[in-house]
Amino acid sequence: MSQDPLKVYREKRDFVATSEPKGGKAVHENRIFVIQKHSARNLHYDFRLEVDGVLKSWAVPKGPSTNPKDKRLAIYTEDHPLEYAGYEGVIPQGQYGAGKVIVWDTGHYRNMTEKAGQVVEMGRALENGHISVWLEGRKLKGGYAITKTSRGWILVKMNDELVDASKDILIAEPRSVLSGRTIEEVF
Ligand code: MN
Repeated sequence: MSQDPLKVYREKRDFVATSEPKGGKAVHENRIFVIQKHSARNLHYDFRLEVDGVLKSWAVPKGPSTNPKDKRLAIYTEDHPLEYAGYEGVIPQGQYGAGKVIVWDTGHYRNMTEKAGQVVEMGRALENGHISVWLEGRKLKGGYAITKTSRGWILVKMNDELVDASKDILIAEPRSVLSGRTIEEVF
């Protein structure tokens, strides 16, 4: 490969100071997704999808919703290494993204992006500015769409049988799916 997709990720971090993974080469049969709750300067949820050996990433200030009426701004950020999907801990003060991280949800996903009845592969879908995925997470399940608009990317629950408008899942299920900890319990 001529280009290192993790160049920006590595440049932003001092791996002597932070315990975040540096990233190597990894191949997954089942493509993973992860949502990390991150109490940086501003609390947000990092939504990441495995595409072509890295995690394509968006920072979602209000976090995901199970209600299709909620349109959540998603700020596209640098690719992260696949191993980042298992990262939980504290990014030290002075480091990029300083603050606590928990794995709020993770699992596999299936690409559902179609155009004129044909499947659009993920890399192309990203370029086109529209991605539909079926999430099989511990918390989030069903269709989600990420679409590029004039005011940025928007993450929204698609209308399907897994819609749940009865609760705010961020409040109902705040804990890490890896450790059971809340973000306040990470230190
Ligand atoms: Mn973040």
